[in-house]
Amino acid sequence: MAKLELKNLNKTYNPKVIPVKDISLTVDDNEFLTLLGPSGCGKSTTLRMIAGLEEPTEGRILLGSEDITSKRPGDRNMAMVFQSYALYPHMTVFENLASGLKLKKTPRSEIQQRVTEVSQLLGLEELLQRKPGQLSGGQRQRVAVGRALVRRAQAYLLDEPLSNLDALLRERVRADIKQIFSTQKAPVVYVTHDQTEAMTLSTKVAVLNNGYVQQLDPPERIYNHPANLFVAGFVGSPQMNLLTLPCQERYAILGNFRINLPNIPTVPPQIVLGIRPENVRIARSEDTQTIQGRVYLVENLGMHNLVSVRIASSQTESPTVRALLPTDQNWSDAEITLALPPQNIHWFDVQSGDALRS
Ligand code: ADP
Ligand code: MG
Repeated sequence: MAKLELKNLNKTYNPKVIPVKDISLTVDDNEFLTLLGPSGCGKSTTLRMIAGLEEPTEGRILLGSEDITSKRPGDRNMAMVFQSYALYPHMTVFENLASGLKLKKTPRSEIQQRVTEVSQLLGLEELLQRKPGQLSGGQRQRVAVGRALVRRAQAYLLDEPLSNLDALLRERVRADIKQIFSTQKAPVVYVTHDQTEAMTLSTKVAVLNNGYVQQLDPPERIYNHPANLFVAGFVGSPQMNLLTLPCQERYAILGNFRINLPNIPTVPPQIVLGIRPENVRIARSEDTQTIQGRVYLVENLGMHNLVSVRIASSQTESPTVRALLPTDQNWSDAEITLALPPQNIHWFDVQSGDALRS
């Protein structure tokens, strides 16, 4: 099996819209790469270029050591799963699974064997004689994945394959997909705007915004060390607190409180402090960096309460901080002291949005 490489890939439709700008990345044959980003950021365009359905304006695509940039889609030996499933309504599940192999004039016995194998893997054995109209959404999605798997492709491309499923089913099929593709030795590129899918499925995530790769890293690193404000704000739910604060000497000023700045060569007039709600907690006696304020909103999330706190401030506008707190207390209107553990604080440059590393 072979790795997939994108080299300085660009796509321009007209001078105004440039959906993909200079994307370079490598997906090894044991990797599951997710392109994650908001709607319109260029995910599908990138995937369609890999599949050969769109021609890059610039750049190259390599599979193994072969340059496939100008190969026709049918000659690329890649399998693609679309959001819309793209099943043939008049064919049975068996025929849907087999159709790609038939086109390639694969011997009947081999078709039979591969379809059996894949339908066992996906739990479709009982459904082989049904037509797509007689299947649930989750079953249809599994057939769509099955159509890709029977191909035994050199790379698998999936474009938002779960977005037509309801939440519960999405979780189940997500787990299925993770299991199925962990046994395939071929690069997988998966497109989604859903950060949970990206975090749970991937070995590597490319966060895209405006056609640019913002960060390319394993999911843990994307979460714990976001490279810039966009990634920090896009990944994580509830969203990271991001506060633009004035600086004085070696401190950032948060309401009436001072937060130690990281070790940076020059102290800027302003800085962005980021901290995830799950890292903000009720202060203990040993905490050195604490802030006080009054709760003005409590949202019950089941496992936790998401508590919004107006921080005490002598200025007219008080900053607000959100914290995930235990549900065994009534936080409404409470005056509370919160700790901001220094190791959980992320600092960003106000101008560039880039993370500041001390
Ligand atoms: P995503 O999949 O991330 O939602 P797309 O890759 O589909 O985004 O689209 C990225 C941008 O390119 C969007 O602004 C979209 O309107 C534009 N775009 C996509 N296809 C075309 C096309 N055929 N012609 C012109 N603009 C397009
Ligand atoms: Mg898309």
